[in-house]
Amino acid sequence: MARVESFDILVFGGGKAGKTLAMDQAKAGKRVAVVEAGLIGGSCINIACIPSKTLIRSAEVAHATRRAAEFGTHADNVRTSLDLVRNRTASVVAEMVAFNQSGFDASGFELVIGWGRFVSPKTIAVETGNGVRTLTGDKVYINLGTTAAVPDVPGLANADPITHVEALQLGDMPRHLLVLGGGYIGMELGQAFRRLGADVTIIESGERLAPREDEDVSSALLDVLQGEGVNIALNCNGTTVTGKSGQSVSVKTADGRHFEGSHLLVAAGRRPRTEGIGLELAGVELDTRGFIKVDEHLRTTAQDVWAMGEVAGTPMFTHASLDDYRIVASQLKGGSRTTQGRIIPYCVFIDPEFARVGLNESEARSRGIEYRTARLPMDVVPRARTLSQRKGFMKALVAKDSDKILGFSMLGVNAGEVMSVVQMTMLGELPFTVLRDGIFAHPTITEGLNMLFGNVK
Ligand SMILES: Cc1cc2nc3c(=O)[nH]c(=O)nc-3n(C[C@H](O)[C@H](O)[C@H](O)COP(=O)(O)OP(=O)(O)OC[C@H]3O[C@@H](n4cnc5c(N)ncnc54)[C@H](O)[C@@H]3O)c2cc1C
Repeated sequence: MARVESFDILVFGGGKAGKTLAMDQAKAGKRVAVVEAGLIGGSCINIACIPSKTLIRSAEVAHATRRAAEFGTHADNVRTSLDLVRNRTASVVAEMVAFNQSGFDASGFELVIGWGRFVSPKTIAVETGNGVRTLTGDKVYINLGTTAAVPDVPGLANADPITHVEALQLGDMPRHLLVLGGGYIGMELGQAFRRLGADVTIIESGERLAPREDEDVSSALLDVLQGEGVNIALNCNGTTVTGKSGQSVSVKTADGRHFEGSHLLVAAGRRPRTEGIGLELAGVELDTRGFIKVDEHLRTTAQDVWAMGEVAGTPMFTHASLDDYRIVASQLKGGSRTTQGRIIPYCVFIDPEFARVGLNESEARSRGIEYRTARLPMDVVPRARTLSQRKGFMKALVAKDSDKILGFSMLGVNAGEVMSVVQMTMLGELPFTVLRDGIFAHPTITEGLNMLFGNVK
């Protein structure tokens, strides 16, 4: 039997929650190890949020440069070199990785690089470059994330589709990018590649984009993307794929539509990383969707084993994974923070941004919650006019029988930042009248909140 190395805290997967917990506990004097397959700092900084938002910024610059004449500046023969975009993205990622690595080193936890799997309760074998190490922890925290799902579409797997990982590292511009899936990753990358110079078609099986949002949001998103020349094909069912991504690929639908492209990007959901890692040997059970079953304290079905982040079914955002860290850290300090009732905002980084916190109308209706609504087109916000960023709208839901804010959605410039102001009001349990009557600097986008909440009947 291999020598078993013992730790106070063993973190399996170095995502946002895991790495933060590891640094925190190592600094507190605990003996801590993190088992990580190879992404120093997790998905967010290596293959997800940070590279995608860096690429999106390059695409915004290309777009703004093409619009330069509108602002009085001539910029002729605008062209993008995707290899330079890729280099810029890679250098932002490298800086973040180095920054994370120095934080890890300073905290003193042991980073064990290699593929891990449970071999018995609370014990993980790691295939390192130098053989197998076997580690055990008094307390074990799983933070393994998710991976891009490749749906069971005939011909898809054989077409070698790319995922966000490869898309963010492309050095040659796709002639025509087909994107399978109209969720937030598909929309963000679809718009970015269109702006960088590729033809783009988003192929979505549902009847609208972003189906969890209200219909007015879906149709405004459609308008924004189509307005920039992104082809959007909805209700695409019974699809089959032929050809190879990177050469020539084609997607056909049951109703006879046919899309030809040079590259195929799958952005059709995420799969938890729970297969083939011996969870059954550790007593860790899965829910019906294949995510790790946890309670509101993020405890799994195994004694002294917790799960955090996307693999535990937490909403798929870095800030949600970070909050999972807060929950388990609170327990280590004798606190009682749980996942119950937490408000998790989000922002989709298409341009203009879409952001939401709290309920939208469809959710309020399905829960039988009565509400008042107020709406404001971005076009009437003075700052939006000065920026020539007039697309979109703000929408708020306020309780019918009190002044409580139930939710806020915004498609518009700086939506993520404006949403945070509304979120603070919600967290402070302040009435909507605070935003209606508060003095905001002029001309900012946030001052639109005065007008929006002035529209609550
Ligand atoms: C393209 C894209 C864009 C995104 N943009 C945003 C955004 O703008 N904002 C936002 O909030 N969220 C965004 N997300 C989601 C965000 O990236 C995740 O929610 C976030 O990274 C939290 O992930 P996590 O902590 O659950 O795990 P992860 O960060 O995925 O970490 C899991 C870690 O476990 C490791 N691992 C897995 N299996 C093993 C194993 N068997 N052995 C050893 N190690 C293993 C992996 O290498 C990985 O480092 C985006 C996601 C994608 C795909």
